[in-house]
Amino acid sequence: MITTANLGFPRMGRDRELKWALERYWRDEIDAAALAEVARELRARQWRLQAERHIACIPSGDFSLYDHVLDTAVTVGAVPPRFGPAFDVSVTATAALAQYFTMARGGTDVAALELTKWFDTNYHYLVPELAPDQQFNYASPVSRAQFTEARALGISTRPVVLGPITFLRLAKRTDGGPTIELLSALLPAYEAWLSDLVRAGATALQLDEPALVLDLTDAERSGFADAYARIRHAVAGAELTVTTCFGALDENLDVATALPVDVLHVDLVRAPQQLAAVLDALPDSMALSLGVVDGRNVWRSDLATIAQRVVVAIDRLGSHRVQVAPSCSLLHLPFDAAREDGDDAEVISWLAFAVQRLDEVALLARALDEDEAALHELAAGSAAFEARVASPRVHRPDVRARVAAITAADAARLTPYAQRAVQQRTRFALPLLPTTTIGSFPQTEGVRRLRAAHRKGDIDHDAYEAGLEAETEACVRRQEALGLDVLVHGEFERTDMVEYFGEQLDGFATTSHGWVQSYGSRCVKPPVLYGDVARPRPMTLRWTAFATQLTTRPMKGMLTGPVTILQWSFVRDDQPASETARQLALALRDEVTDLEAAGVGVIQIDEPALREGLPLRRAHWDEYLEWATEAFRLAASGVRDDTQIHTHMCYAEFGAVMDAIIALDTDVISMEASRSGMELLDELRNAGYPNEVGPGVWDIHSPRVPGATEIDALLSAAVRAIDPERLWVNPDCGLKTRRWPEVEASLTEMVAAAHRARAALGDR
Ligand code: GLN
Ligand code: ZN
Repeated sequence: MITTANLGFPRMGRDRELKWALERYWRDEIDAAALAEVARELRARQWRLQAERHIACIPSGDFSLYDHVLDTAVTVGAVPPRFGPAFDVSVTATAALAQYFTMARGGTDVAALELTKWFDTNYHYLVPELAPDQQFNYASPVSRAQFTEARALGISTRPVVLGPITFLRLAKRTDGGPTIELLSALLPAYEAWLSDLVRAGATALQLDEPALVLDLTDAERSGFADAYARIRHAVAGAELTVTTCFGALDENLDVATALPVDVLHVDLVRAPQQLAAVLDALPDSMALSLGVVDGRNVWRSDLATIAQRVVVAIDRLGSHRVQVAPSCSLLHLPFDAAREDGDDAEVISWLAFAVQRLDEVALLARALDEDEAALHELAAGSAAFEARVASPRVHRPDVRARVAAITAADAARLTPYAQRAVQQRTRFALPLLPTTTIGSFPQTEGVRRLRAAHRKGDIDHDAYEAGLEAETEACVRRQEALGLDVLVHGEFERTDMVEYFGEQLDGFATTSHGWVQSYGSRCVKPPVLYGDVARPRPMTLRWTAFATQLTTRPMKGMLTGPVTILQWSFVRDDQPASETARQLALALRDEVTDLEAAGVGVIQIDEPALREGLPLRRAHWDEYLEWATEAFRLAASGVRDDTQIHTHMCYAEFGAVMDAIIALDTDVISMEASRSGMELLDELRNAGYPNEVGPGVWDIHSPRVPGATEIDALLSAAVRAIDPERLWVNPDCGLKTRRWPEVEASLTEMVAAAHRARAALGDR
């Protein structure tokens, strides 16, 4: 019978137990032992759940209290000096745990490790920081302990280890040098780690090397051969599986198939086309693990079609050399679709979360074994898949016709920026260096209570709206008092900048338990975009219009852009993302023109996810940027010249997408800049960025109130780099997570700094 494998499981637990335990631990409400107990219980439950589903290769070590890349750094002793000497978890558990969380979250006077996106997912990992002369040692036996823990339950697991080349690729060197140069220093730690797992009884090891789907340097390519020769030697008898995911191996296929390992895992969901080439290149000594059910998206699999693909592999390799598995770790999926109890039974019947993926893998293996009942069930699964793809709810001829009729003119403003800017200056008569914010204001306890009361039915719709109106009005008054030039309504009606639109657009469903880990204890519940997108009625008009009539100052309408909605939702897999983006763009375009018609002269369309949507391979960038920028312009371009379109982007390196940012042709862009201020300004200047820009002058990710000299310095650097006629003054990002006292203090400083800068420039 065909071997079934799982590469990793969500860590949070069915009811996000880990989140609650972590947050209680951080608030000092439970101790380290109580946290460890919750974690142990979660691991035991998920191992049993996989064993009950007859998964043959069950992972261990995939669990993490915060992040698996951080775990790897700690295991190989890569603790930067600012966190003090590394503690051995088995000796000083509480101190080690404290140090671990300081690396993850920062501490008094110690900055955390940098947080960034794991490949092209919405999971964030902590970036290991390595010195040019970094020393490594096998410092923490946490993964061995988890292996032993599973064995004590009678479950023999396959420990998961982040492979050395991917670990280095994801790390950064403090001097900016290539991390791969540290490989020979790193390998002894890996050898000690892996042989310790084998000594503890592991007979199979899973090394994750998703870096194999990236553009690799020659040094990285040859690093694979060196590293795996030594690893093979260190764990001679163990079955070694190397996994890849999130794309095709392409020109790295020769590297992968030359590795001295026993099993290669490939992602056939993201890159089904690579199967033929992989089968041709696979050496006789290697088995193939086929990642055939989607570890990244929530649709039930078309198992009958998948089975045919697996049969192709079996015919070539024999069933003893074929395994079936999810495409990647199930970390990126919610826990269990069987818990969904919303009233949209039809959409729920189309969904598969982590638990269902295990069932699919097991069912597939049984069916390939020609088990009659399984074959029957397989057909039923495919019927569910087909029901979705054919459903009239998915296909809307009116939407399709409108997309088909899009012309180039629809995606361009009426006149060039320089001409529009003149009209906008006349209309708004703003001072030089106008001040504004990014949209959200503090989600206070009051706002949260209001929302909870409404959800529970304790207050009715009218009372809820009245509460929101009071919050919005208070927010507008505070902005007036602070002396801000362009105001916002505060976004109090929104729980989340994507879910809010998902709830209102046709073609979307929202889930009740569809939580996935974003970073640490932070989870998100992405909306499910299942069908053609249409806007049944205005979405933001009510709140923007309410706020507009409260004040004589310009009120900025707030929308989330098409690319960001797409990136942060589970999206359909039956059409290209570019097509879905166009549908979203048209829905947003209608919202933009409705706002304009209601007298809203400034409209911001946030696209914080534009940069992170970049494909993993350089060769695919241009195509993506082409449709992504077109979708944005389609949303933004239905307006008059004197309507000012803003966008906002944050927390990314923008250098690579500067041309795309210019191609958006927004009148104003606000960008995160305060932490790397100089860099962004140079990038803007070098690219000849022609329109208006607000480089952030306050890092809102910290409660610290910026000092006057600090903001003055950032502003004068900005004035030197960009024509002050085209400069705005704003924070780095929205203020939702901050508290009012620090917001008022910081914005007071910001407005005062803008006044000083204006005076220095000789105000108009
Ligand atoms: N307008 C949003 C806010 O202020 C932007 C958030 C973001 O950039 N992620 O909250
Ligand atoms: Zn932002």
